[in-house]
Amino acid sequence: MKIENHKIEQLRELLEIKPQNIVIVGHANPDGDAIGSSMAWGGILESKGHNVTYVVPNKFPYFLSWIHGADKIHIYKDKTSNKIDTLIADADLIFCMDFNSIARIEALGEAINSNSSAKRILIDHHLNPASDYTLMFSYPESSSTSFLVYTIISKLYDTDIISTEIAEAIYVGIMTDTGNFSFSNLTPELFKSVAKLVELGINIPKINTLVYNGYSADRVKLLGYALGTKMQLIQVGDFEAAYISLSEEEMRNHNFQVGDSEGFVNYPLSIKGVSLSAMFSQTRQFIRISLRSRGDVDVNLFAKKYFEGGGHKNAAGGKSMKGLDETIAYFKDAIKEYFK
Ligand code: 5GP
Ligand code: MN
Repeated sequence: MKIENHKIEQLRELLEIKPQNIVIVGHANPDGDAIGSSMAWGGILESKGHNVTYVVPNKFPYFLSWIHGADKIHIYKDKTSNKIDTLIADADLIFCMDFNSIARIEALGEAINSNSSAKRILIDHHLNPASDYTLMFSYPESSSTSFLVYTIISKLYDTDIISTEIAEAIYVGIMTDTGNFSFSNLTPELFKSVAKLVELGINIPKINTLVYNGYSADRVKLLGYALGTKMQLIQVGDFEAAYISLSEEEMRNHNFQVGDSEGFVNYPLSIKGVSLSAMFSQTRQFIRISLRSRGDVDVNLFAKKYFEGGGHKNAAGGKSMKGLDETIAYFKDAIKEYFK
């Protein structure tokens, strides 16, 4: 990944006056990379003397709450006062972390668009970024936004200023977005960055346990139910796909907490021959769709065409306003049409 020097210099200039009021925003349904990159970048800005506020549109999974500073994150959806709107209105700079368009953060995006004249800076690795930013660090070839943050820090300052806590946050983003170093874009630079994070004092087995072995028993039972009872296979010619659906009731029966179905969509891809996996989760307002694929099967394009969504080539998402059964029927037709 080549980050252009002029962008780094423009960022340096934007951060020159201290302190500034800086708001860091992560995407909806925040994951390890959204929270990791936000806390890491914000931690660096705080260490440089800026006033940093962290906001995400809705709740993040409990297995990320140990990340240093995560207790300071404001959940926009839960707002009980106009405090967050005031912080947004007072911001000099807004950093958008791990998502490609303000439109993707819903009410929080509307609040930013209507209340704020702050300069906006994008730090992201999704395809097709929107263009309404003062400065854009958009690198789809980066395996995570957290690795992008690491690279920006290395060019803007020096990686020696990274504290162990910040190194941990970066590692969480790298680890979760690469599927523990098993997806694409695993470059020598990425592993060099991990070597540096180890030098900075991170404990990889500890982080792995905090993120992947911190689930409730209900979550593990829900996974068993999702795979054992709800997984379905589809074959179109020699193309094979699989899907799982979970209704609100099924989730409630398993005392569902935000983040509990994270990663479910990956399991069907471990079946030999299956090159696309989908997961349908019912929420009060719509059906959330998660898509994963192998190799050349492009779920970014598929999500865009059929589910008003997008993401990456092998990991994307979208939504449907239809009911759960109707959405699944539509999905099956779409698979037949697209992959025949
Ligand atoms: P997940 O399945 O983990 O929620 O999302 C997988 C990837 O797809 C993430 O990179 C996420 O940002 C992207 N994604 C998920 N839902 C949507 C959506 O509704 N629209 C777009 N453009 N991207 C999405
Ligand atoms: Mn990411």
